[in-house]
Amino acid sequence: MQKEESNPCVRCGQERITVKKWSEKVGTSVLKYTLTQCPDAKCQEIVDRNNALREEKRLMHAHKRPPFKRVSLTHLSKPKN
Ligand SMILES: [Zn+2]
Repeated sequence: MQKEESNPCVRCGQERITVKKWSEKVGTSVLKYTLTQCPDAKCQEIVDRNNALREEKRLMHAHKRPPFKRVSLTHLSKPKN
């Protein structure tokens, strides 16, 4: 049994409020989205900014280290048969 998801604000710990709920059809399945935000608008602004900064950093790191670099293409081009 699952009750309404608890989603406290990462900054102030207040229960975030649901702003918007919608679902999107992707192929054969329906994805459900819930947009929540901190009841404190100023706090939410800071959280948003921090998230953007973190995402930027994450992307920078991803560019430095491509995850598929280990795959050897020469190995793939020689089937053993
Ligand atoms: Zn907050």
